[in-house]
Amino acid sequence: MLSAEIIAIGSELLTPTKTDTNSLWLTEKLNEIGIEVKLKIIVGDDELRLKETIKDAISRSDIVITTGGLGPTEDDITRKISAEAIGRKLIFREDILASISKKFLKMNREMPEINKRQAFIIEDGDVLPNPNGSAPGMAVEIDNKYLIILPGPPRELKPMFENFVLPKLKQTAGEIFVKRKVLRVTGMGESAIDEIIAPVYTQYKNPQTSTLFNRSEVEIQLTAQGKNEDEADQMLKDLADKIVAKLGIAVFSVNGELMEEVVGRLLIESEKTLSVAESCTGGLIAQRLTEIPGSSKFFVEGVVAYANTAKIRTLNVPSDLIEKFGAVSAEVAEAMAKNLLEQSETDFAISVTGIAGPAGGTEEKPVGLVFIGYASQEEVKYIKLNLPGDRHLIRWRASQAALDFLRRKMIRMKS
Ligand code: ATP
Ligand code: MG
Repeated sequence: MLSAEIIAIGSELLTPTKTDTNSLWLTEKLNEIGIEVKLKIIVGDDELRLKETIKDAISRSDIVITTGGLGPTEDDITRKISAEAIGRKLIFREDILASISKKFLKMNREMPEINKRQAFIIEDGDVLPNPNGSAPGMAVEIDNKYLIILPGPPRELKPMFENFVLPKLKQTAGEIFVKRKVLRVTGMGESAIDEIIAPVYTQYKNPQTSTLFNRSEVEIQLTAQGKNEDEADQMLKDLADKIVAKLGIAVFSVNGELMEEVVGRLLIESEKTLSVAESCTGGLIAQRLTEIPGSSKFFVEGVVAYANTAKIRTLNVPSDLIEKFGAVSAEVAEAMAKNLLEQSETDFAISVTGIAGPAGGTEEKPVGLVFIGYASQEEVKYIKLNLPGDRHLIRWRASQAALDFLRRKMIRMKS
């Protein structure tokens, strides 16, 4: 597998106001053809540091791509410094100067003298045409390695790379097909998951496996390289099947689906309907579900009953239940779900009541305490959770846990 480095050049990229997005875009394109980016560097307009950086990069990697600093001004040093770094001369090219001055003529402008700088090309380098700007790029071969020099503006860099660099790199890298698969797991921590699945995935170098934790779920990312798409897909499926066999129902998605999409799909498949009674999540569950196109097939209504009076008036929760057990309790969560199920005549209802914080917690009922209610024609249930995090995270995790509660119920019903 070929290795690459990307060097983003420009002092403005070292300030908090300007972000190097070129390297992100380039990395995606390189990964797609099976070239691994091993290092990304940002260098200011500093001759010494840039020269050392290019030298080092070429000694380490098969492909080095620079972006930026090809303009006509004094601080655009890429052309001169990269030539020095690889020990080659800059050659003045009359034909390039002619094409640059033609571009200016087209815009009815005189070419400034300083643009002549852009007509210099590294000895034995290939010219990469720039239809969207004045400075051409360059591709230089050095002992089977490539130094590719691209302009900074994304609207110039992207077409130049896609039209004149990518085809050549594809040839060099050989026909490799890279595909990704994302498994999403909920209700388990990252380390607990890794303990279970590491014995499986460490047996594979290809696909590569990495896990990362999101707000309320763990993502297991698999990346496979095959000779063609089918082979890569098959490799991903084989490993994914083994991981799912280990983790079971905790895996809620094997193809990138979000939790709300999975729940929506299960409801549609079983032709069931849902209503949602929310307190501390304030409509978040309803919002997530209705974000999905086609949610009208299964989603009937969402009630945000935030104050106790609203729980009593809108959801018929008995006031003595709230007095006796408190609004954040298993009894109230169940009553919210059960009463909404009856009112809305849906097949399922779920409810959430909890303490999102930062205030309002007590020793007995701390911040993060959340009860989730579930009601169907057959049964009324609840789960009690102690969720970590700040207000935002607790609300998000409560919404996720409620959707997951329903998901697990539906899957168990099917089997
Ligand atoms: P120009 O001829 O326009 O001067 P250049 O090749 O010299 O082009 P720079 O001067 O380095 O490029 O950058 C021009 C503009 O391109 C910057 O102001 C910035 O908006 C954008 N740019 C440069 N580098 C990057 C980068 N790595 N990621 C995103 N945008 C960039
Ligand atoms: Mg510039």
